[in-house]
Amino acid sequence: MDWFEVRQVNRDLWMIAEPGHVVSWLYLGSEFAALIDSGTGIAPIKPVVEALTNLPVKLINTHYHFDHIGGNAEFTERLAGEKAEALLLRHAPRDLLQRYIDGLLPLIAKADADRAADPDYMALTPELMLRPFPAGFDAKAWCPGGVAATGLLWEGDEIDLGDRKLRVIETPGHSPDGICLFDPAHGVLFVGDTLIEGPLYAHYDESSLADLALSVGKLARLETPVQAICSGHVARAIAEVSLIAETGQALQQVAQGAPYRMGRDIFGYGLRETRTGRVWVYHSDGKASSFPLHD
Ligand SMILES: [Zn+2]
Repeated sequence: MDWFEVRQVNRDLWMIAEPGHVVSWLYLGSEFAALIDSGTGIAPIKPVVEALTNLPVKLINTHYHFDHIGGNAEFTERLAGEKAEALLLRHAPRDLLQRYIDGLLPLIAKADADRAADPDYMALTPELMLRPFPAGFDAKAWCPGGVAATGLLWEGDEIDLGDRKLRVIETPGHSPDGICLFDPAHGVLFVGDTLIEGPLYAHYDESSLADLALSVGKLARLETPVQAICSGHVARAIAEVSLIAETGQALQQVAQGAPYRMGRDIFGYGLRETRTGRVWVYHSDGKASSFPLHD
């Protein structure tokens, strides 16, 4: 089985999922293609992109986290938010990557059982179903990071793809360097990890619930209607754009002290979890209790 699950959403938009890990998006203009994030680097993503388009590719990172930048070195034009400049030069800590893999191995084993129970994918979609690591993948040598951006993006900057443009919206909160990318003419919004159906990670030491709430507020006030939300961990373009308002409400409830239960993230670290509908906010007590995401 291939590592990637590729789906064409419409004429100009492709989803490139690493099932159960992360989703990168390929957005085609008349002159350039934008690749939104480059995945985990567990398998090369550039051959997948080159099979889909002949256009020159502008890679744009939504933020520096290891599961979004692993393929950066495969591309010559690498754009990121200006606050990501220094962070992209760091690497994900060995211990963090090992915790990630250790957390996934039992889930990968379980996925085999799930696949066997639902071989026709009537309920379980392949985009979400974890796959075995590719043959030849050396977890000990896996070391995402350390690849500089070739261009930095500021709030309001436009990336010209020819017949369409992507505008940069700075959206810190999940991470300090987060950006979203919006095509106002077509209503397509790429959000990285700022909007998620399911676990919204805002419990890291570097996270800020207050910043995240402000960032989501910016997305709620975009001047033209959002038609589709393309998220870094949701393996489809979300047509129910009420997710923006729902996320804003969920963050407001957390800020007002909504009840929570104790939970764990994929790395096995403890956190507070407040579920409101389809948004599950992961947060912490605000004391340094989390872990570094870079060396
Ligand atoms: Zn992230």
